[in-house]
Amino acid sequence: MSSVSIQEQSNPVPSEELRARHQELAERVRRYRAAYYNDDAPEVSDAEFDELYRELEKLEALHPELVTNDSPTQEVGGDVSAAFAAVDHLARMYSLEDVFSLDELDVWVQRAQASVEKQGGEPPKWLTELKIDGLAVNLLYRDGVLVRAATRGDGTTGEDITHNVATIKDIPQQLRGSNFPAEVEIRGEVFIASKDFEELNATMVAAGKAPFANPRNSAAGSLRQKDPAETAKRPLSMYVHGIGAREGLQTTSQSETYAQLKEWGMPTSPYFKVLERYEDVLEFIAHFGEHRHDLIHEIDGIVVKVDDFATQRALGNTSRVPRWAVAYKYPPEEVHTKLLDIQVQVGRTGRVTPFGVLEPVKVAGSTVARATLHNQDVVKAKGVLIGDMVVLRKAGDVIPEIVGPVMALREGREGELREFVMPTECPSCGTELAPAKEGDVDIRCPNAKSCPIQVTERVAHLAGRGAFDIEALGDEAAVALTNGPGPDPADNGGTIAPAGPGPLSNEADIFSVKDIDLSEVVVWREIRTKGEGTGRFQQVPYFYTKATPKKPSVPTKTTEKLYEELAKAKAQPLWRVLVALSIRHVGPTASRALATAFGSMDAIRAASQERLAEVDGVGPTIAAALVEWFEVDWHAEIVRKWAESGVRMADEVDASTPRTLEGLTIVVTGTLPNFSRDEAKEAIISRGGKAAGSVSKNTSYVVAGENAGTKRDKAESLGLKILDEDGFRELMANGPAASEPADELEPEPEPEPMEDNA
Ligand code: NAD
Repeated sequence: MSSVSIQEQSNPVPSEELRARHQELAERVRRYRAAYYNDDAPEVSDAEFDELYRELEKLEALHPELVTNDSPTQEVGGDVSAAFAAVDHLARMYSLEDVFSLDELDVWVQRAQASVEKQGGEPPKWLTELKIDGLAVNLLYRDGVLVRAATRGDGTTGEDITHNVATIKDIPQQLRGSNFPAEVEIRGEVFIASKDFEELNATMVAAGKAPFANPRNSAAGSLRQKDPAETAKRPLSMYVHGIGAREGLQTTSQSETYAQLKEWGMPTSPYFKVLERYEDVLEFIAHFGEHRHDLIHEIDGIVVKVDDFATQRALGNTSRVPRWAVAYKYPPEEVHTKLLDIQVQVGRTGRVTPFGVLEPVKVAGSTVARATLHNQDVVKAKGVLIGDMVVLRKAGDVIPEIVGPVMALREGREGELREFVMPTECPSCGTELAPAKEGDVDIRCPNAKSCPIQVTERVAHLAGRGAFDIEALGDEAAVALTNGPGPDPADNGGTIAPAGPGPLSNEADIFSVKDIDLSEVVVWREIRTKGEGTGRFQQVPYFYTKATPKKPSVPTKTTEKLYEELAKAKAQPLWRVLVALSIRHVGPTASRALATAFGSMDAIRAASQERLAEVDGVGPTIAAALVEWFEVDWHAEIVRKWAESGVRMADEVDASTPRTLEGLTIVVTGTLPNFSRDEAKEAIISRGGKAAGSVSKNTSYVVAGENAGTKRDKAESLGLKILDEDGFRELMANGPAASEPADELEPEPEPEPMEDNA
């Protein structure tokens, strides 16, 4: 049985089946908690755990007779391992009630408010802070001296980790100042900063050990070392977020206490606010939802607490959580899924990259079915085997990453797992693979000229927006032209696989596609009936002509459009032609610099490596790549054939454009109303200026459009001149003398430390 059905929910007496489900859920929650808290090696992702736990809670809410004293919903998760002495906390340590949506938060807040009101209290102020993804510790100070430190354990009894905590620099052994309370329990979260976590994992892997799944587990594992000398080697930090037993402490609110703790030298988080309005709480949540990766540590949500101690006391606690605080959890960024296979792909420059084929899984708002593994060393370092359950992480907009295997789930499954072996031959053309030069980690297919996949990638690249900008020649058309149709996908697990080589043997002939019979360029399409896929496929021509009597339903590009765009492409400026050539390391920035410095393809080809390297924005690596590239016969052939077809190989200098930006370095950031990024750059270069990508003290101006982010911030901190579009136009028309001063523009709001509110 997987979950509680509606029918069962309306049944007042729990069925046998329901009781069995309850027992199964309780057992699983207990087992997962043990793996998480005691072994610091979770078997399931937090998201999966939370879902099971919620189901258990729901079941018990519907059938309270199922609740027993030892039900996991009545306990604070965690135990005391035999490796540590058990110590009792003076005051109980609680967990937090979780909510997973703003609607649930709404309900919680209204309930708390109503409860306060009923007791005649003032409307609560909300101390809103970050939910740090670490582990809770309880520090006992007597007369200002740290006498004991313990993990949370089951909330009543924790593990004595005093010696380990003594190695954490953030935690004072002796409080600063005088007049300390006779006794106070200070609670907080021990964590490993995100940057330190990456370094720590790299050292673990280098030492042949399995990396930690996430910073929380690494912090917990580091703090619960048997040998304090080991803990001392780990970069642990702490922020305090509460107090337990207190004797002689005068403060009356959470925020006042934070201020006091800070004065004593305890590490308090700079990110908290006391908010009166619920809307501001929502804004805080939205703000850190967006900026959660700009912080030094991981967070998994926001904690909202009633600030005033008297109100906290009035609301009280359940056996597991306080009724005066709640944790709003952000959508999960880490999930577990199965690594079905590791395959390789061949890139534009022949680099062969392994990638993981995953059981499709939803993470941070999108479904992920594959993730790059970069190279064979990375596969080894991550220690993943095909068939493993793996931790998959997708932080914000960052591309999904396979973090490592879920080691706890390997036991008993060894027979199903297999190691990845890097192929020795190119999967596209069968050529023997080799590193470009000795010692390189990356393996390449050396058959650059005619390896069908490399040709496809290069054709798709030259047609891209940053190069010739040929819309009718998208990825699918590139595959069809250069690879021909592969096996029937119905016989290939539904996958459309290229077959190699197609009618276009390489990009040298791209401007002569008129010579190819495009009606023979075909792709596989699934046959659909009434909008539903049938699992059967047929070959259809990708291109059609305007004269085709019945317009095909799926291929959408006409040959006329392709020819028209190819003709337009021939007039593109030189830098775009350079980008289109797929020369290693030569992207738009270097291409622009080369086009500006030399003006023609001939001049670039004739220039010495030294001369090329002198160009600002080029440098020795690119210069060497250029010289090497032009030395290859079939490369020279591409340039020759393109030129013969009429591709413009030199820029026309428009003498009418004034050189108003001579000597200026300008960075464009954000979205301008009337210029694309490329247009802005071209406008700068054509007026003699340099269009740079990053802001430094050598930047003359920063042109900032809407949603300009960190570059603008940096410009402000360096006191640089910042222009909007009007200012930019002024500058182009009249040169530097006409530009507006920067400080007339409004600064961006920023995640600032919020301690002023404490
Ligand atoms: P919790 O992590 O949801 O919340 C309580 C804890 O939050 C507190 O004990 C404290 O340590 C911490 N915290 C962080 N910042 C805080 C702040 N500003 N103020 C107060 N407390 C703060 O609850 P929990 O009982 O510790 O753990 C339950 C969670 O742990 C689950 O929701 C799940 O995500 C995870 N978990 C995962 C597994 C697994 O197998 N993956 C197993 C057990 C628990």
